[in-house]
Amino acid sequence: MTVFSTAVGYPYIGPKREWKRYVEAYWKNTLTEEAFEAALKTLRLERLAHQQQLGLDYITVGDFTKYDRMLDLAVAFRLIPKRYDVLQQPTKNDLYYAMARGADDVVACEMTKWFNTNYHYIVPEYEGQKLSLAHNPILEQFLEAKAAGIQAKPTIIGPYTFVDLAKGYNKKEKALFILQILPLYTQMIRELGEAGAEWVQIEEPSFTKDLPADEIRLIEEMYQQLRDDTNGTKLMLQTYFESLNAYDRLIELPVDGFGLDFVHGAKENIKAIQKFGFPSDKMLSIGIINGRDIWSVNLAEAASVIQVVKQAANVDNIWISTSCSLQHVPVSKQAEQTLPDVLFDHLAFADEKITEIVHLTTFAKTGQWAEAGLVAKSMKAIEALAIHPSRKNDRVATQLAALTPEDYRRDVPFAQRQQVQKEALQLPDFPTTTIGSFPQSAQVKQTRSAWRKGDISDVEYEKFIKNETARWIRIQEQLELDVFVHGEFERTDMVEYFGEHLTGFAFTQFAWVVSYGSRCVKPPIIYGDVAWTHPMTVKEVVEAQALTDHYVKGMLTGPVTILNWSFVRNDIPRELVARQIGYAIRQEVTALERAGIKIIQVDEPALREGLPLREANWSHYLNWAVEAFKLATSHVATDTQIHTHMCYCEFNDFIHPIRALDADVISLETSRSHGEFIHSLKENRYELGIGLGVYDIHSPRVPDVSEIYAILTESLAVIPKAQFWVNPDCGLKTRQESETIASLKNMVAAAKKLREQHAVTN
Ligand code: GLN
Ligand code: ZN
Repeated sequence: MTVFSTAVGYPYIGPKREWKRYVEAYWKNTLTEEAFEAALKTLRLERLAHQQQLGLDYITVGDFTKYDRMLDLAVAFRLIPKRYDVLQQPTKNDLYYAMARGADDVVACEMTKWFNTNYHYIVPEYEGQKLSLAHNPILEQFLEAKAAGIQAKPTIIGPYTFVDLAKGYNKKEKALFILQILPLYTQMIRELGEAGAEWVQIEEPSFTKDLPADEIRLIEEMYQQLRDDTNGTKLMLQTYFESLNAYDRLIELPVDGFGLDFVHGAKENIKAIQKFGFPSDKMLSIGIINGRDIWSVNLAEAASVIQVVKQAANVDNIWISTSCSLQHVPVSKQAEQTLPDVLFDHLAFADEKITEIVHLTTFAKTGQWAEAGLVAKSMKAIEALAIHPSRKNDRVATQLAALTPEDYRRDVPFAQRQQVQKEALQLPDFPTTTIGSFPQSAQVKQTRSAWRKGDISDVEYEKFIKNETARWIRIQEQLELDVFVHGEFERTDMVEYFGEHLTGFAFTQFAWVVSYGSRCVKPPIIYGDVAWTHPMTVKEVVEAQALTDHYVKGMLTGPVTILNWSFVRNDIPRELVARQIGYAIRQEVTALERAGIKIIQVDEPALREGLPLREANWSHYLNWAVEAFKLATSHVATDTQIHTHMCYCEFNDFIHPIRALDADVISLETSRSHGEFIHSLKENRYELGIGLGVYDIHSPRVPDVSEIYAILTESLAVIPKAQFWVNPDCGLKTRQESETIASLKNMVAAAKKLREQHAVTN
């Protein structure tokens, strides 16, 4: 019997985000190419040695990147879009980063979400280019490790997933694309084998999506060819994020091992093994440690799941691994100084998770735990938090239990609300508004950090925020916008701000994970019952409202977005946490309404990203997600107008859930995919208020009036005047003040022109 410990992958950012510092310094030219490469090499080797110290048997290489692993492969395959020809004799890094981030004369490749995570990858673009292997990035990492005395397990994003996530080809071209790609994969794998790699891990997360029959056949053909050409090197086919689809067919692929996720999709994977068995000639890698959460495992429970899986599969030899790469969790909890013990003890980031794997491996191998009391300790940490008062808010439990279906519904249908609100609010046709935040200037950021450090007092800070708000109210008056916002100057982040005011949240100091490229986020931890204790936004909005006759929107983050952008407790279902947050936001909505605010926006930009990978699970998620939003927003008076906002996701197949929110007005980011979305509005009628973003807020470029006007008239073909709002794509906090004012001025001018035009023709 052999049992080996491994992880699908490990974070590359370093314990203190060193990686981000090096990459950004290189971009800014404060680090030479040579120094940059040397720094990355040190970081790579340190992280391998570190994992070795933690006791892992198979350490992964090929999970490190200079920006994104999909991009690494695209560049290695010379899958370079034609437009990058404008670069004059670029170095390897110049070209790579131009594709990642754009350069002076050329835009970046598209970026999109990696399955159901908050990580974004660079989308490979196939234009029929002739492909060949320019270099083998995985081999380079393998050899570097080998030279340092580490015999590593290389990992590669698999050919099916790579093709599945690439774009630019139609059905016919797909076969050609695969025909070109496969030999490059075999070459990479062969080179790894020749260099001494015993196992190569091939990651195929796309195997967990819904797979039509012809795709399954395609996968079988691809792997047959891959096998024929790479004999001698053992292939570990690694799937994650869900159970393996079409288990009975795919498990027979000609590979030497299968890595399955026994955290997400555990039930389905176990059922499939029980029903169809597990091939006796393959190694089973049991992904038992959750690569998506930050909680320590119950060792006894994990050990028994491993036992169940082993028995069902009838195998002796196994690997014990993570459910997916650990890149989705922070590096180590050891640096955290400010968390309460009861929470700290139950946390496991990447390093602590590796230690758990090592313990489980020892136990699976010997039937003994490495240290006495390990299991008891793991249970104690879980129990201590389980019985902690933060998880037992009786008041919230009673309030939620008392809710009735009426609490989730506006008492008057939209058509009637629309009339009442029209009378009450007296807004012009094509009302203009913004999404919430205004530029967070260097001065805003500096003042906030001075206040956080205690260098300036609460009073001084509040005065500063108040002045900034007042200044932007005047700017909005001058711009002649219709519905105002207060500007969100008091918030660094739309989730963090609410987390800091609600109960049940904790904030770490260093728990960073990559969101895309060098951008890292530090999600809050929801560890206790979430409850509203005091108004969080009323003061700022009411102060702003007092300065103007225009309506100032109350501005809140929605429950599903707060949930999806946090690390969430795992002792109760996510939907219950969503309901708690929904109820808390509902109380804030009440507070705003009582303070006389007539328009309240509840943002849900992360609603869509929570969608499960399998369509069969969509309706369950959407039901509770929509309910949580409606719980937050349905109890208001008929003449209180509820807005919501969504951005940076695929809306075309999402109109039905959007309608289900029953928000009086939604503002959407659509300027980049305008045509497409208008098309789907033609097919799916949408009868509530809607504003399609008229300009991209990610660019410093100021759109001119005619350009915005053209977008507006195009939208008017599918959205009747009575529903039509005018707004930018998203919040403006990352923009400069001058750009913002210039762009909004043109937006208002375009809306006015439309108004005049329409008054005449009507
Ligand atoms: N109200 C938020 C803002 O304007 C919305 C941000 C977002 O959608 N991501 O900043
Ligand atoms: Zn947005």
